[in-house]
Amino acid sequence: MSYDFLKTPVTYLKGVGPKRAELLQKELSIFTFGQLLEYYPYRYMDRSKIHKIRGITSDMTFVQLVGKISDLQTVGTKRKQRLTAVFKDDTGTIELVWFKGIKWIKEKVFPGQQYLIFGRPSLFKNTYNIAHPDLEHLSSEEQLKNRGGFQPYYSTTEKLKNRGLNSKGMEKIIRTLTSSAIDNVPENIPKGILDEYKLMSRNDALQQIHFPESHTSLEKARQRLKFEELFFIQLRILGLKKKQNSLPGQVFKNIDEYFNSFYKRHLPFELTSAQKLVIREIRKDTASGKQMNRLLQGDVGSGKTLVALMCMLIAIDNGFQVSLMAPTEILANQHFKTLSKFLKGLNINIELLTGSTKKSDRTRIHNRLQSGDIHILTGTHALIEESVRFKNLGFVVIDEQHRFGVAQRARLWKKHRVPPHVLVMTATPIPRTLAMTVYGDLDISVIDQLPPGRKPVKTFHFTDSNRLKVFAFMKDQIKQGRQVYVVYPLIKESKKMELKDLMDGYESVAREFPLPDYSISIVHGQMGTEQKDYEMQRFVRGETQILVSTTVIEVGVDVPNASVMIIENAERFGLSQLHQLRGRVGRGADQAYCILMSKNLLTQDARKRISTMVYTNDGFKIAEEDMKLRGPGDIEGTQQSGILNLKISDIVRDEKIMKAARKTAEEVLNNDPLLEKEKNICITWYLKYTGNKVVDWSRIS
Ligand code: ADP
Ligand code: MG
Repeated sequence: MSYDFLKTPVTYLKGVGPKRAELLQKELSIFTFGQLLEYYPYRYMDRSKIHKIRGITSDMTFVQLVGKISDLQTVGTKRKQRLTAVFKDDTGTIELVWFKGIKWIKEKVFPGQQYLIFGRPSLFKNTYNIAHPDLEHLSSEEQLKNRGGFQPYYSTTEKLKNRGLNSKGMEKIIRTLTSSAIDNVPENIPKGILDEYKLMSRNDALQQIHFPESHTSLEKARQRLKFEELFFIQLRILGLKKKQNSLPGQVFKNIDEYFNSFYKRHLPFELTSAQKLVIREIRKDTASGKQMNRLLQGDVGSGKTLVALMCMLIAIDNGFQVSLMAPTEILANQHFKTLSKFLKGLNINIELLTGSTKKSDRTRIHNRLQSGDIHILTGTHALIEESVRFKNLGFVVIDEQHRFGVAQRARLWKKHRVPPHVLVMTATPIPRTLAMTVYGDLDISVIDQLPPGRKPVKTFHFTDSNRLKVFAFMKDQIKQGRQVYVVYPLIKESKKMELKDLMDGYESVAREFPLPDYSISIVHGQMGTEQKDYEMQRFVRGETQILVSTTVIEVGVDVPNASVMIIENAERFGLSQLHQLRGRVGRGADQAYCILMSKNLLTQDARKRISTMVYTNDGFKIAEEDMKLRGPGDIEGTQQSGILNLKISDIVRDEKIMKAARKTAEEVLNNDPLLEKEKNICITWYLKYTGNKVVDWSRIS
């Protein structure tokens, strides 16, 4: 069976035509029949069930009601404006609310007539309301009787809606498509696997996912399509991993003078057992003769950098050069300083190379790199530029993975005939299921232990009305010689607003903490790098007691004397961001504090985020919670990785399917590495159709 049908451009579908086809491409990246078939509904309405207003309970996620609308009213002004209405059936009333599209609703809704509405009821001040319900005008009772079954809902865009492709419009063209698609969809999973996991055929699944006959068949279709999705992701990742594992690696045979003298004489403290374990893992990898690609996870302050340093020393002991790459200049600088301090007296040459390194210095560094005179090069992405050549690069450490994707890593492999070992460090805890998907090509080490004597940061939540208390607390801490961060959120929509918020905040802090008793640094996105650095450095050196900034303070910046992190408008931050910011304090021996400031009224999600921060310091718990609240697609960095573009699976909920898919993919590749066997031919065809290579990863970019 061929893929010709699925490859047909959507413009050839009845009811589409060139104009709509163009929009489908532009708005949803749907070019072909196959892609349209894979545009799954985001939910279904079970049309057979109509609820009564009196029967609504708090555990109902969606309800469908029939009744009349009255009392349309616009409340509030300007940006706070909303439209409310009363909806009434024979058992009671409920409020409807709209915050957007008010004008449109006012024109389209006829008070006193019958409507079928669908939406999520929420409890506010003891009564239920529904925000932005779906509305359908019912001209006769007949309309209700003839529906039955499931109705799919498709998300679309304003532009598509203007061309008649709202959810209903999409439903219509997809219905046309599915009826001609019958038996035109090739299977892409081998029969043995379908049988083993009792999976529905692809053909049936693509019918049932749009127009399910029953709950059971919808569930089966979902299972099948999730498995398929995760199976092909795993095939791809495992293919990549195989390719990496087949790369020869430098062999670090010896542990010698540098490592030993550092360990015995220069290390000012005992390593934690988690650190020792990770060093052993890396030691084993780097002696194996295969290239290492390892992800090192550990909360902020868990001692990753130190582990990296010790592994670098092993590389140097074996005659190799190493490099440490950071995502920003400030961080690269800081690494440079920390390493220099640790390595004093060891006779190791270490240099810093960033975008702002002067041309003459740059040339000098390039030369010394090629002659092998430099042992350690720290820097930013400038390190992977073509012009930077090493004599003998053996080990690369990348700090803060999230800004550094698979593609960049691949460029590193090409830096040397035998690619260097790569250690990626991240402080953002990644739940295991996600790690298996996004970083499935890396081996993973975890430091799950903080150095002894660290006190967990105490976190409190205050509303704006308690600001004076917070100021008093800041004064007390400053009196004890501590320093304080005050952070404002970045507001994407408006740089002006952001600056205004920050400046207002700065002024109120400055009024409360006047010169000459206090001095304050301020850093924001509109400042030049030099000025930013200057202000930051004043804080780092302890010349200012307070740093007021937008989130430009970089991950990883280390000011052990800072003991208080105040986060303004905390409700606007995501959980992992809040956790990252909190990690800026608590790096010294003193008790540290994180204070989350917010307005009084919070959405349920914001309240959940803040309470999670208050009750736990555990980065993994926070990451799981974050995923539940936001969905994995939003987790920082996963978008960029380009691997996680899930259509139907849910990383958190579908852990079981994911494990099965991974196991299956492993078995398939072990048994048939080049996917040549007859039974796997359907996989190869599908990969060819999607342009998705599994085996040949030599041209990653
Ligand atoms: P990370 O890179 O994971 O954020 P660092 O390596 O920067 O952590 O370590 C944070 C701080 O803790 C540094 O000042 C470091 O010197 C110190 N440190 C690291 N390991 C230990 C240890 N085993 N015992 C005591 N202090 C440690
Ligand atoms: Mg660090």
